[in-house]
Amino acid sequence: MAIELPPPPLQRGRLNHSKYSEFEIEKEAKRLKDAIKQPFRWSFETCMSIAPLTLEINQLKQDKDVFLIAHSYQTPDITYGVADSVADSYALSKEARDAPQKTILFSSVRFMAETAKIVSPYKTVLHPSPEAGCSLSDAITAQDVRDIRAKYPELPVVCYINTSAEVKAECDVCVTSSNYLKICERLPGDGLIFVPDRFMGKHLQNHLAGKKDVIIFDGECEVHAAFTGEKIRTWRRRARDVGMDLQVLSHPECDTDVLEESDFVGSSEVLMEEALRLASIGKKDLMMITECGTTDRVLAESKQDLNIVGACVMCRHMKTTQLEDILQALRDPRPDQIIDLELSVIERASNCLDEMFRLAE
Ligand code: SF4
Repeated sequence: MAIELPPPPLQRGRLNHSKYSEFEIEKEAKRLKDAIKQPFRWSFETCMSIAPLTLEINQLKQDKDVFLIAHSYQTPDITYGVADSVADSYALSKEARDAPQKTILFSSVRFMAETAKIVSPYKTVLHPSPEAGCSLSDAITAQDVRDIRAKYPELPVVCYINTSAEVKAECDVCVTSSNYLKICERLPGDGLIFVPDRFMGKHLQNHLAGKKDVIIFDGECEVHAAFTGEKIRTWRRRARDVGMDLQVLSHPECDTDVLEESDFVGSSEVLMEEALRLASIGKKDLMMITECGTTDRVLAESKQDLNIVGACVMCRHMKTTQLEDILQALRDPRPDQIIDLELSVIERASNCLDEMFRLAE
């Protein structure tokens, strides 16, 4: 019997664009350039080259009734070109659940698409780049959780949302970067195990010192681990020398010395809101200690001109997905682009997320 092979991936940059007229492509390119608002990196010519892709993707979404969500760290051609909603992983999973469409396309890394499947088990969840992992999520397996639980059987296991479905299924409660302090404080008992982020684990240990013992794991986000307190101090000195009132905004996946040097700490969405608020009151000299996608969004959505200093860091996993991958998954998804989880994993991982919703109230 002949074995049916899945279609090969679409070649990037080699599509037949002839189905759209010059007028349609120019109009779309103008829309993209105006939305992205970074004319040096995303010029009109660059937007002309991606316009046929965004036109076809947006058409297919309508024809096939697909809700396309993208994490903030995706590139601007995705977030402003084709996404119906852009936010952080927690907000997006809730949107995936509440959307009337029966098919969700999640442009992001694998664990986020899995989280969408856990909260919407009866929907089809498409993930265009199956190879897009995450250094935090990949740092821990379900067996690691079983091993650590066996060592401390009396303690609840708390997992950060950046974990696979199998890991969530082994844990008692899930947390996000905006609710982890609150939820861990509320858990009964005088100790807990926190996995997999060692930096957030350290913040927790400091926050709960004298009240709870916190056992931590050794995973880290390779993007946020790249920042140091010393880099911030250097930039503060330079800024002060030229009379700049630098505001430093950091993500809690960074090390403690980074957070101690920062003016504000919050999850991606909260960082973005704070940056826009600061800009609106005239504080335009900002240093964003997070992934470059958040900086791209702040630049696109600020009504004021901003002076962003220092360098953001790109996540190679988040930047894996390109418009061609999305188009492929919409046209004719390969089996590995459709999230498929065992029912028992969905049920147990769902309990872990439900406990978060209950304790976050
Ligand atoms: S930014 Fe860090 S936590 Fe987010 S996907 Fe990349 S490696 Fe994972």
